[in-house]
Amino acid sequence: MKKIRISEGKNKKCQKILQNKTILQMFTGVNQVLRIIQKLLYPPRCVCCDALLGRLEDGCCPQCDARLPRILGPVCMKCGKPVVSNEKEYCDDCRKYAHIFDRGIAAFTYTGSLRRSVYRMKRQNRRDYLSFYAKEMTGVLQTVLSVWRPEILIPVPMHRRKKRCRGYNQAELLAEEISRLTGIRAEKNVLRCTRMHSEQKMLSRKDRRKNLKGCFAVSEECQKQFARVLLVDDVYTTGSTLDEIADVLKRAGVKQIFFVVLCIGKGK
Ligand SMILES: [Zn+2]
Ligand SMILES: [Zn+2]
Repeated sequence: MKKIRISEGKNKKCQKILQNKTILQMFTGVNQVLRIIQKLLYPPRCVCCDALLGRLEDGCCPQCDARLPRILGPVCMKCGKPVVSNEKEYCDDCRKYAHIFDRGIAAFTYTGSLRRSVYRMKRQNRRDYLSFYAKEMTGVLQTVLSVWRPEILIPVPMHRRKKRCRGYNQAELLAEEISRLTGIRAEKNVLRCTRMHSEQKMLSRKDRRKNLKGCFAVSEECQKQFARVLLVDDVYTTGSTLDEIADVLKRAGVKQIFFVVLCIGKGK
């Protein structure tokens, strides 16, 4: 009698697992259908010139793609900025100023049509660009992932008031998409932006760090949890934000902090 009850129990468990699997498959199927419907209703546009693309195309039109400022040559061993020759290990910035993060990589330089594209993504709600951006970032990551071996992807957080105003945090959406493409877990709750800070754009390097002091906090349950993390952001300017976050994370026990950004200023 007892034996029969156990097997019934096992049977129920199996049925539940199968049910969950079917629900998951249904969800994936529904998601794919939704993506197709979305593409039919809103045909994709080029992230650079905004021209209509074919229904099966994605990202950039061929003309803009050929002109994208991809970083292909030698780069700074610290921040990933392009440098003039392989003999130059670090860019002028990284030789002058010490960073707290360990190393970073970028897909593009922050110039021309891509700069305008990022502006539209941020200010004109063009979050449809983010899947193309994430694909390009994942592309450059492939060259370093086996060496960096990050355990987790952490998007640079945005203060909740700013997020409410914009409607999204682009770094979070990029991290989610990169996570989907690489299989590395993305975690948006590890780090929080606890204080609104004024715009960094007009500030000097020194004032930027001062402006960011005490802005970020690590969640309690993540203290001493990770050895290697990969931060995700859209634009690298002086690296002040990433340094401030790296400082907070290192205090919480993280040993190595890497980053990937969509674009970075040109080095010398
Ligand atoms: Zn184009
Ligand atoms: Zn550098």
